Amino acid sequence: MPSEKVFLAYGSPASGKTTAFEHLREQGVVNYVSVGEVTRREISKKTPLGQELQRCLTEVVEYPPRLIAQVMVEAIRNAAKGESVVVVDGFPKYSREVGPFMKIISNADLVLNGVINFQLSLETAINRVENRRICTSCLGQVKVSSPEDNCCPHCNSSGSLSQREDDTPEVIKRRYGDYTRSYADTLNTIHTFFPDLEEYLVSAEGTEEEILTRLTILFDSARVAQQREQPNSIRKVGGSSPSPGSLGFPE
Ligand SMILES: [Zn+2]
Repeated sequence: MPSEKVFLAYGSPASGKTTAFEHLREQGVVNYVSVGEVTRREISKKTPLGQELQRCLTEVVEYPPRLIAQVMVEAIRNAAKGESVVVVDGFPKYSREVGPFMKIISNADLVLNGVINFQLSLETAINRVENRRICTSCLGQVKVSSPEDNCCPHCNSSGSLSQREDDTPEVIKRRYGDYTRSYADTLNTIHTFFPDLEEYLVSAEGTEEEILTRLTILFDSARVAQQREQPNSIRKVGGSSPSPGSLGFPE
């Protein structure tokens, strides 16, 4: 019987999705496969695929869907060997990548469980990006509560916080629009393969702890539903529920 435990994750820039899934991975709740991580690893190991990826970066062209699929196939297969649910982030990002992705999961005898859509207003996205700083002294990431804040909470340097050049309202607005269009397009294409596939909406507003709590509830309910449907293959998703407020996010 195909194993129904793969979720796809989508969210606009500044939705906090990567941070949230990295925490759930540390807790053993999910097996998180991010295309950014996987491609960076290939590039740094200078594998043949990594060199091809590097050429795309150098020439400033998008990775071809065939190349992304080749890079992701092993990562997805390995992730699916574990007991936890698998969350794939960043692939398929565009509608043209949906076909190659479907081939991978069908060859691995996996079935999509659902799509997780992190919902964030443009206003909050702009706000988060405007308050994002990098410490030039310790290279730590800092969230300031007012634009005048200029002291690093990690290394206590004063006057060391700087803003990334592309963290402007104009750039974030454009990226948000691009994301919204490509997500709608990609989801439509996914639905041509699985018309009844569930789209789980998760609010990405609020604090990181709040987002994590919402995700934990989602995975708990997905697990309960799965156990009801497959009484003979009860899966342990592992770990206890995180207690909000004690998760130790970097500020
Ligand atoms: Zn610092």
